[in-house]
Amino acid sequence: MDIDNTKILIIDDEQSICDACSKVLVRKGCLVETCLEGKSGLEKFCEFKPDIVFIDLKMPGMSGMEVLAKIKGKDANAVIIVITGYATIESATESIKKGAFDFLPKPFTHDELVLISKRALERRSTLLKAEQLREQNERMRQNFVALVSHEMRTPLVAVMQYLEVFSTGIAGAMSEEQIKMVDRMKIRLNGLLLLIDRWLKLSRIDELNLKEDFCEILLGPLIREVISLVQTQAEERNINLRVMQIPDSVRITGDREMIKEVFVNLITNGIKYNKKGGTLSLSVRDNGDFFIVDITDTGIGIAEDDVANLGKEFYRVHKEGIAAGSGLGLAIVKKILDIHGGRLDITSKVNKGSTFSVNLPLSRKLSRKGEQNE
Ligand code: ADP
Repeated sequence: MDIDNTKILIIDDEQSICDACSKVLVRKGCLVETCLEGKSGLEKFCEFKPDIVFIDLKMPGMSGMEVLAKIKGKDANAVIIVITGYATIESATESIKKGAFDFLPKPFTHDELVLISKRALERRSTLLKAEQLREQNERMRQNFVALVSHEMRTPLVAVMQYLEVFSTGIAGAMSEEQIKMVDRMKIRLNGLLLLIDRWLKLSRIDELNLKEDFCEILLGPLIREVISLVQTQAEERNINLRVMQIPDSVRITGDREMIKEVFVNLITNGIKYNKKGGTLSLSVRDNGDFFIVDITDTGIGIAEDDVANLGKEFYRVHKEGIAAGSGLGLAIVKKILDIHGGRLDITSKVNKGSTFSVNLPLSRKLSRKGEQNE
């Protein structure tokens, strides 16, 4: 790879190193800036926007390691090479851990300097291409979300409203057969709208800055609220709900509505995929890092291969007579738990039942809303 026109910043307190490197790189057609200490180096980084940065580890004032961390904080795609006069394994590995691309031990030859610059430029162009692709994907995703919500959902809602009008009889009396047909249309349309709404919810979770609304949540009252929401559904299927008393000490930090969504999804599934007359139990334990809520049903269970795929968008286990659904509920659950630093564990046995274990990090003391202290 040719390095002409590559913007390179050298931050080193030794004038002779800056001058020598600059001379070699300028001869190769690079645009080079140099700084003799970290603070001005950082300012130059913001103004010059280099492709590659060379940083001396040992400098008076701000250390090379600190400059490295600050530059990475400003631009994750910055490609940094650490110049080290004491190339110990520890300092080199630490700099790589902090995000350096590579290190160049002193003394180095002109060829070594050019070679490492070429490799760094390759890395830079890969990172920039990946960034471009991410941005392009994000734009496409946003366009698709807008298309689904405006061009698909809005007309479907309008059709639903017309069907409702037919049902009231305002538009004229209908025969028994016509009423049945309209009812079937409403059921199918409702299913489609539900699917669209779930997909929109899943697509928008990332956009919402959930962490802004994080607060302390008492798990007991939240679970009781969810149970009261699903009570009728459980009675219809004659499911016996056994919910452990959850003490007030069980608190987590998160977005209440989202955490509620997690439990609504899992408890509804535990009822929906249970056998008629089955049991759904809910209990809480604590393993020092997480509160774990186990939701155990005595339902149809899931085969091992399918368990591995659960949570992928639109994934449903194909079985005759299985309850209708979107295949998006578990994807939503996993995404929400991920944002909360938690996870979902699933164990299941076909025809015996399943346990969905919600792992949520133990709440730390909150000083202000959404702000955590260790
Ligand atoms: P949906 O229930 O809308 O299809 P989910 O993402 O919630 O979507 O679930 C995906 C699939 O996982 C379901 O279609 C079902 O096959 C299976 N599943 C989920 N929960 C259970 C459960 N408690 N018992 C058995 N199968 C389940």
